Amino acid sequence: MKKTTNINNCPICNSTLINRVIIAYDKTMRSLSSLYPSNLFFKDYKKISLQIYQCQRCSFAFLNPRLSREGLNQLYGNLYKTVYYDDKRRHKEFQYQDYFKKLKHLKKDGPGKLLDFGCNTGVFLKIAQDNCWDVMGIELSYQASQIAKKRLGNDRIITGAIDELKNLDIQFDIISFLNVLEHLPDPNLYIKIASRKLSPGGLLFIVVPNYDSIRRILIGENWSLILLEHINYFTRDSVAYLASNNGLILKQGGPIDYEIFNRGFFEKIKKMFRKNEGSSYSFSYGRDALIKLAFLALITDFAGLAINRGDFIYYVMAKKSL
Ligand SMILES: [Zn+2]
Repeated sequence: MKKTTNINNCPICNSTLINRVIIAYDKTMRSLSSLYPSNLFFKDYKKISLQIYQCQRCSFAFLNPRLSREGLNQLYGNLYKTVYYDDKRRHKEFQYQDYFKKLKHLKKDGPGKLLDFGCNTGVFLKIAQDNCWDVMGIELSYQASQIAKKRLGNDRIITGAIDELKNLDIQFDIISFLNVLEHLPDPNLYIKIASRKLSPGGLLFIVVPNYDSIRRILIGENWSLILLEHINYFTRDSVAYLASNNGLILKQGGPIDYEIFNRGFFEKIKKMFRKNEGSSYSFSYGRDALIKLAFLALITDFAGLAINRGDFIYYVMAKKSL
């Protein structure tokens, strides 16, 4: 394995009581290496096994070993060259409309100051800006941040990482991390710095993969969210730890509605019906199998949403008042 690091302590609570719970393969790397055969990074990682460890103390789950910072930078460099910042593929507007609806309910007295950390191309911030929020975004990817600047105005977007947040002399009513914390090597550090930038009564709004998802429990290593770039998988207990470590109170959490009929689930289940194992693109099923799959996907979607066991979950943390 290349450019990886091993973890001996839980990244959230620092416990050494960690156990391996899943061994999987990254299907995205396989697909990308066949779509972009000349890309050496995808080729190198297409057969890598992804091992998930879980902390016995706080139940946080994480890839171990995982890409080092250098490895992660290379991964994102390669992903951004291909599909990653393409709005149509990754950043569906209805998903962000759903996030915004939740965020709006958090601040009953009207629009406020919002910072979106890892704002990508600014689709979410644009929705907030159109609803009179005073918005700002930080984005590491140069390409994505340039698109965001065009969308929102140059002065609204900072290209950079955690140091940019550290150096900002502004306080925000809400700071959001939407599908971002699962990519960051040290979620504690990010939450710590963000919590210092909240105004009194300010809130953190995060959306993260839910390790207790009903699909993860049902299909295990075939869960669509097990990816080389997803180094963290959260549970309610581990989010509560993350909050209390950093002087925050976990206020609420809940399902993300846009998940209904999640495409990723289909892809993973399809594998079970695959006739030709040799090629990742030769699927073949009968009509009956498709109907069964659709039914299963729908059941797990609704069941997941009903009991907070969807693939993604949102949490709100509040700054303790002094
Ligand atoms: Zn832990």
